[in-house]
Amino acid sequence: MLTLESELRETMSRSEFQLIQSYFSDPEQVSRSDIVLGIGDDCAIAQPRKQSNLAFSIDTLISGVHFPDDTPPEAIAYKALAVNLSDLAAMGAEPAWFTLSLSLPEMQCDKSREEWLEKFSLSLFSLAKEHNIQLIGGDTTKGALSVTIQVSGYLDKSSGMRRSGAKPDDLIIVTGPLGGAAIGLDIALKQNTEQFSCLSEHDKQDALNALNYPKARIKEGLSLQTIAHSALDLSDGLLSDLKHILKASNVGAELILEKIPLAASLTCLDKQAAWEKALTGGDDYELCFTLAKDDWPAIKEQYPQFIEVGIITSQKGLRLLGTGRLPHDRQEYKIKTRGYDHFG
Ligand SMILES: [Mg+2]
Repeated sequence: MLTLESELRETMSRSEFQLIQSYFSDPEQVSRSDIVLGIGDDCAIAQPRKQSNLAFSIDTLISGVHFPDDTPPEAIAYKALAVNLSDLAAMGAEPAWFTLSLSLPEMQCDKSREEWLEKFSLSLFSLAKEHNIQLIGGDTTKGALSVTIQVSGYLDKSSGMRRSGAKPDDLIIVTGPLGGAAIGLDIALKQNTEQFSCLSEHDKQDALNALNYPKARIKEGLSLQTIAHSALDLSDGLLSDLKHILKASNVGAELILEKIPLAASLTCLDKQAAWEKALTGGDDYELCFTLAKDDWPAIKEQYPQFIEVGIITSQKGLRLLGTGRLPHDRQEYKIKTRGYDHFG
């Protein structure tokens, strides 16, 4: 088997390799006291805090599968780190370090590759700084465009945010509006144009930003780590993702359709189509968590944007209900669309 170094020599000349490396050795980047040795040696060395657990997650974004081929480099970098940060947020972890593996295709000329790398690395380091997470190693190869990031973070030993902890009568909460990224994808791919035909240019840009620059809910996750009974981040759509909690916790749920927070960019759609987009669109990276009713008022006061969308039940299955004033007035809905399956 080839070692990493010899693999690099086979696929890329030394000068190309050094050029790329130069974009990822930013002296301005986050420098943490728990890193004994950062980029530049065969391994990085960390000295983790003894009183915490460590949480790890990894995600790969592939051009044409997880983002459209013409996505700008700054958006690719932002999203690749943000979706990983979002997994840390879903566990209530505090970001610490990350590694990056970048596969880059042949570009027309050195100048276009340098411009691409400069935009990519500036955006990556800017988001890293926002969350005090340090790049501690990486690998670059020539090939189809793809970005893999692995993140690590500190997790309080008392944190209980797992998919398996939901209990009957828990409230189901989401941290923000849903469906914006799905409209953003339609705009980026110029498909289903009737879904965004009435939007202003400003609203369209907001939807594209929801797709390309998702916000990892790190602060929110940290606030919830000892209160939420269960949690995950919404990558595939509320319907698909909530089912993971229901299965792991061996419970069911009722969602109240009118309570689902709809992204402002869903306004061209009728109510039913908007709910379907919000429930199955995916890529929103808000958190969905469950908690005891008694704990909800204090959390709602701290985060007024959080929305209660339903309740965990001991009866299995996921039911979608309209809001009648009384439970027996509520009509059950069927959603036909399946969960987000990327677009590859
Ligand atoms: Mg996740």
